[in-house]
Amino acid sequence: MKIVLLGAPGSGKGTQAALLSKQLKLAHISTGEIFRDNIRRKTEIGLKIKEIIDGGDLCPDELTIEIVRQRLLESDCENGYLLDGFPRNIAQAKALDDSNAPDKVIELYIPLQKIEKRITGRRLCSKCESSFNTSVIGDVKVCPKCGGELYIRGDDNAESVHERLAVYESQTAPLIDYYKKQGKLFTVDADLPIEEVFESVLQVIK
Ligand code: ADP
Ligand code: ZN
Repeated sequence: MKIVLLGAPGSGKGTQAALLSKQLKLAHISTGEIFRDNIRRKTEIGLKIKEIIDGGDLCPDELTIEIVRQRLLESDCENGYLLDGFPRNIAQAKALDDSNAPDKVIELYIPLQKIEKRITGRRLCSKCESSFNTSVIGDVKVCPKCGGELYIRGDDNAESVHERLAVYESQTAPLIDYYKKQGKLFTVDADLPIEEVFESVLQVIK
């Protein structure tokens, strides 16, 4: 099964992808995570893209497409993939269609005016990588699961969120029509508790 998760920043793609990959035993590929890992390790790629990411813009297509192409060649992708954050524009979608087209595209829909609060409330654990929201856990400093220190992502500030939403509207949202025309698009209400969104996503996949 080859699945693409589509949705605005903060729509919960990463959260749903983590749940889904566990349930379906599919390789979870998050381009955002791959880039952040490169930034943490200060690789050549990481140094090149840090400012782009923190500013909320898209990394170059050439680089992004090549990273995904190589990742999809790894053995854990034999039975398919779960792509989270890729494709993010039409050029990327066409590149994916040329080599490894998805079976289904799931759009996580959340009204734009709810997004800023979701993103600026996001907290991540430096130890176990879990993601939380202050609307659920309150403004605490340590991870409710493991006690690790919580941190805020470099691009989860109000200015960058603004730019990411603009990029989503102009570059990524056209993919909704693109996949609708292919009969592959399924839209799920993502403005609900995590478990309820997950139920709807599973319904779509069955
Ligand atoms: P979010 O969906 O919350 O914005 P992601 O982790 O998916 O978070 O992406 C974070 C950032 O990584 C993006 O704002 C962008 O700069 C970069 N990025 C991720 N995926 C892509 C992609 N497919 N093409 C270009 N840039 C990307
Ligand atoms: Zn933790």
